[in-house]
Amino acid sequence: MHHRLRLILGVVTRSHTTMSTRPFALERQLGLSAVRRACVLTSSVFNKLVKNETLTKGDKSPVTVGDYAAQALISVMLTNSFPADPIVGEEDAAELRAEEGKVLRERIIELANEALVSPLVEGDKAEWGIGPGQGKTTAELLDAIDRGNYDGGRTWKDFAVCLSLLVDAQVQLGIIGCPNLPVDPSKPEGERGCIFVAVRGQGCQQISLSGYSETQLRMPAFTPSSLTFLESVEALHSSHSTTDTISSILGITRPPVRMDSQAKYGCLARGDGGLYLRMPTGVGYREKIWDHAPGALLVEEAGGIVTDSRGLPLDFGLGRTLGENFGVVAAGKEVHAAVLDAVQQATGAKAKV
Ligand code: AMP
Ligand code: MG
Repeated sequence: MHHRLRLILGVVTRSHTTMSTRPFALERQLGLSAVRRACVLTSSVFNKLVKNETLTKGDKSPVTVGDYAAQALISVMLTNSFPADPIVGEEDAAELRAEEGKVLRERIIELANEALVSPLVEGDKAEWGIGPGQGKTTAELLDAIDRGNYDGGRTWKDFAVCLSLLVDAQVQLGIIGCPNLPVDPSKPEGERGCIFVAVRGQGCQQISLSGYSETQLRMPAFTPSSLTFLESVEALHSSHSTTDTISSILGITRPPVRMDSQAKYGCLARGDGGLYLRMPTGVGYREKIWDHAPGALLVEEAGGIVTDSRGLPLDFGLGRTLGENFGVVAAGKEVHAAVLDAVQQATGAKAKV
């Protein structure tokens, strides 16, 4: 059995304070640094995870020391610079505060502090409260985790660090760090580790984890039959049978590419596949905003369209979830209408059976 890390964190803010010429320039720079540090942290955890470093949550999803430490790190960095901004995060520290959580807790504190004190690199600023000598106490880091409680064909093994900035329920900044994703999709055995970033109105860029050069992403034009589906590995997360039906309606002959995590959004934005679908499985699951907010902006800024299966934009203003689950249809702008049509035929047809 393989283990997957899924790290997701969102931030909600009511105002932004950027004074430079480009909107959200500071948030972008800070977010990139936080996600980059979290990617390094989670890669090291992923590569040498030991048995007692994983908890199974109520919904049976695994959570590792990497998930907690990344949330602590990102929360500390955001709070240092934007103390008034509420944060919506996936994890909470309740189990870590208990006596049984001691071993896990100590490891998380060590990992988060390692990431916080690692030297400043290009783009970092000393006043962000990172760099040598900037370690935090256990209490500070557990509180940082709990700041996230705000209520308002091929198989790839992947995980992602997600960060987004919502202003009045609109995604303004989206960042997805994918430590295990090949930088160049045509070289799957080549260098791994990329960060995708988009600020609304400023396009979508890919940056390699090992460097700082940015590639502007633009989705190519697809025709319906030339599409390749990107979808969840877990059939419980997205109905594989519904996507099969949609595939036949669209005349898609290529097998779907199944990949874990929000890395699918980054892949779509850079032109892998042309289509990402997340179809409800009927278990009443509510999609979490932190899973979709950054990816939706990445795809839109790369020239694609993201809606639910009704054709409506995803609503990030309903609290921690997207509300009732109408799925996600993310595709290039040339094919989105045809895909939506096929989705509606397939789900309508299913309802009649
Ligand atoms: P993926 O790898 O694309 O399947 O996405 C993983 C994400 O699916 C996790 O981060 C969870 O937030 C989310 N998830 C967990 N259970 C479900 C479910 N029953 N339906 C849809 N998504 C889920
Ligand atoms: Mg998780």
